[in-house]
Amino acid sequence: MGEFRETFDAVVVGSGPNGLSAAVALAQQGASVLVLEAADEIGGGTRTAALTLPGFVHDVCSAVHTTGILSPFFRSLPLGDHGLQWIVPRASVAHPLDAQPAVMMWRSLEETCEGLGADASSYRSLIEPFLDNSEGFFADALGPLSWPRHPGMFTRFGLNAMWPATSFAAWRFQQSRAKALFAGCAGHSILPLDKLFTAALGLIFAIAGHVEPWPVAAGGSQAIPRALGSLLRSLGGQIRTGVRVTSAADLPAARVYLFDTSPDQLATVAEPALPNGYLRRLRRYRYGPGAFKLDWALDGPIPWRDPDCLEASTVHLGGTLEEIAASEATMFRGGHSEKPYVLLCQQSQLDPTRAPPICRAQVDGPRTLGKPANEWHGDGSPSRMSRAIMLMADYHCSPIWEPGADAYNVSLDVALSNDLLGARPLQPRRVLGHLAALKCKRPQRHNGDQAGWCDSEYPNGGSRGRHGTRVVPSLGAPLGALISGAIQPSS
Ligand SMILES: Cc1cc2nc3c(=O)[nH]c(=O)nc-3n(C[C@H](O)[C@H](O)[C@H](O)COP(=O)(O)OP(=O)(O)OC[C@H]3O[C@@H](n4cnc5c(N)ncnc54)[C@H](O)[C@@H]3O)c2cc1C
Repeated sequence: MGEFRETFDAVVVGSGPNGLSAAVALAQQGASVLVLEAADEIGGGTRTAALTLPGFVHDVCSAVHTTGILSPFFRSLPLGDHGLQWIVPRASVAHPLDAQPAVMMWRSLEETCEGLGADASSYRSLIEPFLDNSEGFFADALGPLSWPRHPGMFTRFGLNAMWPATSFAAWRFQQSRAKALFAGCAGHSILPLDKLFTAALGLIFAIAGHVEPWPVAAGGSQAIPRALGSLLRSLGGQIRTGVRVTSAADLPAARVYLFDTSPDQLATVAEPALPNGYLRRLRRYRYGPGAFKLDWALDGPIPWRDPDCLEASTVHLGGTLEEIAASEATMFRGGHSEKPYVLLCQQSQLDPTRAPPICRAQVDGPRTLGKPANEWHGDGSPSRMSRAIMLMADYHCSPIWEPGADAYNVSLDVALSNDLLGARPLQPRRVLGHLAALKCKRPQRHNGDQAGWCDSEYPNGGSRGRHGTRVVPSLGAPLGALISGAIQPSS
């Protein structure tokens, strides 16, 4: 790092949304900040690229930003002035079921209830109490684990959220449609749905859909890191891309180092500076399941059997509650389901810039795998992908491009560095583990330097900047004192 003669207040390694958020939070308080990014572009899993045919752009990982649009931290930033524009669909979710209209989660609670038959009033009474003060609810639900600012509402949430999604849905709803809708939302947890607390994500995602329908970013998810990067530069922060930090020698002088990387990488880079106990914990870190996704260039909108499906940013392909639960349980055991639960995002339905006018369809579909992210190296992928392709065929769409190794590897590379999707905190053992780890993840002091971890695996789940900003107040005096208090938790 010979090019940097100055000493920075903070160096952030990694420019995913969390790294950039941490950098912005520091720069807002007048700290001098440098972000180092290994890739040629900023954004990490929130990048967008031409992965298929000319004229089509795809989100490399994150596509639909359910909690991004609701993130208190993002909402506190002038990201619109830096080019971020959310596009909100009419419906967050379409959930096709055999031989009946798709279950739709419209923005309107009433319209949604109309499709839920006998379960309409039960669904309404589940969601409605959170809509009056949804801002307060999301500040508590998506913020750090602490005493809630709205204890009444949060207790109501907790009493529902603590259950396994399967038993909660079976108890709460009588019919398959509402059960399936709830299971699809809970399936974002990437956990077997009979685990305690899996109802939490189902509930959060359902409430979100009636507050701000699950949006995409105009032009691609990369608009999010671009806006954060532009804001950071306007605050005096610096970003260097194409710089992979492999050892402490690669780091310029700074008072604080933040790592938006996997725990393994932090352990390797900062080994000389970190206490043995902390290193052991980082190395013992248990990774969550891996994921792959397929990117499709289609010759037109998907001809769903139920055309309402075109109104949703996300289509849950997985069938009934029982089928989704079986798929997720198989995946968690290390197997692969013959009828996998797939999240299908149809960004080009909302954002015409994603595909050429004559085609106007581009689809991304992430799917989890039965192996931890750090152990999966793409083995068995063709058969897994072909099952997912068959599943797409079931739903009558005709690709003009089929996924190739290049696009596949792009996703994989990020997935491996990323440890996905924030599922872990929903497991009580992990919550407790994280609380313990929280102590050790507090920045470590060594010869005056401090290092902290601000990746999306920082408790408690999700992405969208919260983890990045959350670690900042814990940096300790004097920098922490300088910036704490100004940091709002986000998700
Ligand atoms: C297939 C898939 C689909 C997803 N879909 C969604 C979705 O629809 N909605 C959603 O909200 N989330 C989604 N996610 C999750 C989302 O992408 C992540 O939560 C988010 O990207 C995490 O951000 P981060 O800042 O913690 O880390 P990352 O995005 O992983 O960024 C880390 C950055 O650090 C860089 N880096 C790593 N090591 C080094 C090093 N040694 N030196 C320098 N730089 C380094 C990497 O290059 C990368 O740019 C998806 C993830 C996957 C894999």
